[in-house]
Amino acid sequence: MLKMMQRIIQEVNAAHSAQEALHIVVERVCEAIGVEACSIFVLDRSTHRYMLIASRGFREGVNGVISLAEDQGLVGLVGQREEPINLNNASVHPNYHYIPRTGEEKYKAFLGVPIIHQRRVLGVLVAQQTKARIFGADEEAFLVTISTQLSDLIAHAQSAGVLSRSTNQTDKRIVGIPGVSGVAIGTAVIAYPLASLDAVPDRKVKDIAVEIDIFNKALVRTREEIKMLSERLSHHLPLEEQDLFDAYLRILDNESLGIEVIAVIKQGQWAQGALKQVIAHHSRLYEEMDDAYLRERGADLRDIGRRVLSYLQADAREKIIYPERAVLMGDEITPARLAEAPREKVVAIVTAKGSINSHVVIIARAMGIPTIIGAEGLLLSDLENKPVIVDAYHGVVYIDPSKTLLEEFARLEAEEKELSRSLEKLHGVPAQTPDGYRIPLYVNTGLVGDIQASLSVGAEGVGLYRTEVPFMVRDRFPSEEEQRIIYRQLLEAFTPRPVTMRTLDIGGDKVLPYFPIEEPNPFLGWRGIRITLDHPEIFLVQVRAMIHASKDCNNLQIMLPMITSLHEVIDAKVLITRAYEELREEGHDVVMPKIGAMIEVPSAVYQAELIAQQVDFLSVGSNDLIQYILAVDRNNFRVANLYEGLHPAIINALLHIVRAAHAQDKKVSLCGEMAGDPTCAILLLAMGFDSLSMSSASLPRVKWVIRNFNLSRAQELLQEVLLMHHSKAIRTHLEKALEESGLGGLIRAGK
Ligand code: PEP
Ligand code: MG
Repeated sequence: MLKMMQRIIQEVNAAHSAQEALHIVVERVCEAIGVEACSIFVLDRSTHRYMLIASRGFREGVNGVISLAEDQGLVGLVGQREEPINLNNASVHPNYHYIPRTGEEKYKAFLGVPIIHQRRVLGVLVAQQTKARIFGADEEAFLVTISTQLSDLIAHAQSAGVLSRSTNQTDKRIVGIPGVSGVAIGTAVIAYPLASLDAVPDRKVKDIAVEIDIFNKALVRTREEIKMLSERLSHHLPLEEQDLFDAYLRILDNESLGIEVIAVIKQGQWAQGALKQVIAHHSRLYEEMDDAYLRERGADLRDIGRRVLSYLQADAREKIIYPERAVLMGDEITPARLAEAPREKVVAIVTAKGSINSHVVIIARAMGIPTIIGAEGLLLSDLENKPVIVDAYHGVVYIDPSKTLLEEFARLEAEEKELSRSLEKLHGVPAQTPDGYRIPLYVNTGLVGDIQASLSVGAEGVGLYRTEVPFMVRDRFPSEEEQRIIYRQLLEAFTPRPVTMRTLDIGGDKVLPYFPIEEPNPFLGWRGIRITLDHPEIFLVQVRAMIHASKDCNNLQIMLPMITSLHEVIDAKVLITRAYEELREEGHDVVMPKIGAMIEVPSAVYQAELIAQQVDFLSVGSNDLIQYILAVDRNNFRVANLYEGLHPAIINALLHIVRAAHAQDKKVSLCGEMAGDPTCAILLLAMGFDSLSMSSASLPRVKWVIRNFNLSRAQELLQEVLLMHHSKAIRTHLEKALEESGLGGLIRAGK
């Protein structure tokens, strides 16, 4: 059975369409448990009917035509009970309802199992046989297992609208994950992958010098192309993001990719084959990495490989004609691909792959292009030149939308533009409530941030500088001087505004390629301060670089991540003081920075007051705090619906932290994603946080809320919310309050 199951799963995964996959399932179920009929019904919630979408053993032409009412027949009963029904002779069951025109009256034995996805019944899977018999426990278990596999498949197919003929959906939708919020209406332009490296065959050559020459020429042309693309984007991108293209150029350097490919050519392989081998080897290494950021670098490498290949193949690149409002869609869109498109014409981006760490999202955010990632079920060939609507607030793409939907979104889009214009005007004004409460708004930089954008939105400082990035993009630890130069840029750009630098926070999902950590449970393992205290040489070099960099700027604050016990704070302070004293002894006129602790682990919540006593400030890392308090992996999409900052337990924890800090007369900030969510921000304001730190893209919206929402009203809401027991109810309550204050446009499309 297990072998059979694995075979079915493999075949289903390899299917080219949802229909083909469903067909495979009904065929294989019949073979596996020796029945004559197998059928799949999918529930259409708009018509309350089960539609037959795939079958074997029924008459021809019934799929997509036959349907049953939601409460009709044994199919309806399986759906209602949400459990299998196993009958010797279905026709004598009181709920039996012969489905006309299918020819199913000859079947007696009946086994129906529900298909359930995220607690909701999606459909029913049925096996039938002429001979009356009860199905064995292993057969029942087999069908239940198949149905769990089917649930993901059907859920995706439904959201992609590919079952729409049978399920009667009106507007076809593809659902993904919001990457950069906003709405846009446009025409789909498909960014097909460049030349395919996988399709290149191995081929032996005799004239090695000629192959090397061909390869070198292709390399030069690719380098020129990347330089040109980089220049084209330079007007739209802040400096930090432009480094990305330098990374591309470094890969293309003769000393790196060049040397390796030429070595393979010298073994007698032709240039195309040698390139394929080298790229495949390296991208496999990247793909095996646990770290999401580094995995994305594998995509960059493959993109470069395809570009070089297209020159090797001397293919005239297909010229894309961009419509005035292009929605760039693709399986995988790389930054270079985005750069090829004229900026003024791209109104949105939709990709099937990618994560919020992917470079294309970082760049799209900097350029303000609404983006959806992880849009599974993107059937690219069907979409070319189709009108589409992108709602990147909810992660929904509407394909070929109806006139009504188009009109609705055109209105929302116009209102969005109006809102953006108003937000731009906020640059120079303080974040102050109408009743006079002022709260500084800071930015988070590092992985997703940039100096230029932060300054242009009027950030009053940096609340979190994630120092991991300079460590991630190298193949060894950066030296003290290298670090000092990087830190100096930030400190200088912001002076006299405070810059809070977090000491190295690796481990968890952030692993350095040259410092591998293999652990079964990395989020509960060697992470953050635990690593750096175990390696004082790394810690000391980093804090020396920070303090040295702050000379004359005097705006540095150092922040310690993943604090779980008081002694970690004490030990880290000893090292920071040592670094400071060393620098003074060496004759550098530096000042001792303020030191803060991050509260992002439940134990630190309970010890918050003791920790506050030891430091100058606290900062809540709500991204981790939520994951550790709720025991919900912050990167796992299966439990993403349980990851909720407005959970009553989190609200209580946050309130406790603020009180603990203030009891010690210390400032407390919050620098997780919650701070950038306008709905959460009003509660944080009421709780008494002294500052909030968020991505530069979120800052104008939060400032807008603060400038339009009275502290007194926020405090009333906090009291109301503290009496509530469920996250959903809390969110709805707060959203309603925002709507009533005319601020609904900040949490959804439109004004
Ligand atoms: C956090 O955990 O909330 C935080 C700000 O840090 P990071 O997201 O880098 O873990
Ligand atoms: Mg954290």
